[in-house]
Amino acid sequence: MSPSAPGSISPLDGHVLEPVVSTPVEEVADLVLEARRAQPAWAAQPLNARCKAVLGFARAALERHEEIVAILVAETGRSALECGLNEANGILEYARGAVQVARKALKPERVRLNPVAFPGKRAVIETLPRGVVGIIAPWNYPLGIFFKSLFPALLTGNAVILKPSEHTPRSGGWLARVAADTLPPGLVQVAQGGGAVGAEVLEQVDAVVFTGSVATGRRIAARAGERLIPCSVELGGKDAAIVLSDCDLGRTVAGIAQWSMHNAGQNCAGIERVFVEEAFADTFVPALARAISRLRVAQGTGDSELGPLQNSQQLGIVEAHVADAREQGAQVLCGGSRVGAGWGYLPTLIDHCRPGMKIVDEETFGPVLAVVRVPDAEAAIEQANASRYGLNGSVWTRDLARGEELARRLEVGIANVNNHSFSGIVPQIPWTGVKETGPGVAASRFSYGTFTRPRTVLVDRNRQPDPFWFPVDAHLVTLAGAVRDLSLGTLSAAFRLLSVLSRRTRAIRALGDEMNEDSPRT
Ligand code: NAD
Repeated sequence: MSPSAPGSISPLDGHVLEPVVSTPVEEVADLVLEARRAQPAWAAQPLNARCKAVLGFARAALERHEEIVAILVAETGRSALECGLNEANGILEYARGAVQVARKALKPERVRLNPVAFPGKRAVIETLPRGVVGIIAPWNYPLGIFFKSLFPALLTGNAVILKPSEHTPRSGGWLARVAADTLPPGLVQVAQGGGAVGAEVLEQVDAVVFTGSVATGRRIAARAGERLIPCSVELGGKDAAIVLSDCDLGRTVAGIAQWSMHNAGQNCAGIERVFVEEAFADTFVPALARAISRLRVAQGTGDSELGPLQNSQQLGIVEAHVADAREQGAQVLCGGSRVGAGWGYLPTLIDHCRPGMKIVDEETFGPVLAVVRVPDAEAAIEQANASRYGLNGSVWTRDLARGEELARRLEVGIANVNNHSFSGIVPQIPWTGVKETGPGVAASRFSYGTFTRPRTVLVDRNRQPDPFWFPVDAHLVTLAGAVRDLSLGTLSAAFRLLSVLSRRTRAIRALGDEMNEDSPRT
């Protein structure tokens, strides 16, 4: 199968897919305008109404699961079971979780103000939507990555522009159609096309959520900075798993096989490096090789654990990393070659890897796992942390307390013990990383900084002027000292404070009265 225009052929066998028309760049502004018109009425609805509408939208999407599964199968080459299990089937449950987060996070917050420093005042912090949020997505989970941000964006009162990857345009297009059928007209729009369309979306929106490569993420963050709009960037990963000698061998082998080969490794939080204690390696590594070599790559209609790679560029990266590891003396224990009529690649385990190999240092994003043998857990932590990335990390051991202690030392956003990366489908848990994985946060209340802005409403019921207002006089000096001493806990300062308050009020009022006399009244 030869490479072709992005998104135009099936990764499974190369048959031509129905084309998707790109949005002309000059029409992006109109889409955003339409969304902008729909947004105020949506934001004005009570939260309960928005929750109900979003749940109705998610229910409709789930009821139409056969449509989206067929699209996902066509675009990704994965099996229908996997597309349902890993993306389509979870949409309503995810929306329910997002609603829970919204109900808590959007509650107005009253602030208790110190009555000495701020007499008679009340403050309430409200949460307002940004306006129109752009969601720019990659191709590896063409549906799931959208709904992770789409639900909170809508629940917080925003309109949304979806920008699917040019490699997988149909899934995002379908989501926008379901939204159009169930939500107020214009509220969710889709802009189809490549980088130029994404760049124009960024020019028009009030906030942007980007998931994709580090190179594009840097450009997006820089431009969002210039435009002074909020931006969340979720970028690459090179996740590490640390396997200790006391782990449950069978469960650990199954778990590492799962989370390294899930979605054929095209997972930002896929395990790409496994650090194993040398003394245990000759037990663990052959068992892992047996498990991984049994996994099947989709060929036609039979059962399979893995789909093909989604596009030929990605296949090229995988092949280059494996070739580099081979040249540098690593040992390919299973896989290591293409399979099938499309962009399939056999699940691959490579032993005796070390830093300096691409397979250890760079994101591979394919069904390839590098084994690095280390003397002990300390060396494993040190090498796991010697990465540009930091999304998920995991420690596999029967000693849960030690596992937790070691997991906390991993430089990652999500530290796991005896599992990996499953929290990507939990709407209450922040999905985030460190270093070049980017500072973005998807899911949870911690993602709300992108979708909302706080507005504080302050009401002053104090009938007297605040005692520290102009003019400056000796009583203000006393007052300042008394306030300082009170905060140090010197209770006698309260008497000093009380003794000057009424004098300060008189002095300030006199200033106001003089001003009133000076200025003509109308
Ligand atoms: P990519 O950066 O090439 O493209 C991502 C999206 O950005 C696409 O929709 C693309 O059209 C758009 N785009 C490209 N140039 C743009 C520009 N100048 N302005 C605006 N938009 C532009 O990434 P990809 O190859 O589609 O995705 C793979 C990467 O995504 C991997 O590195 C993977 O680790 C990462 N990823 C990260 C997460 C996470 O949560 N951290 C999740 C999934 C994927």
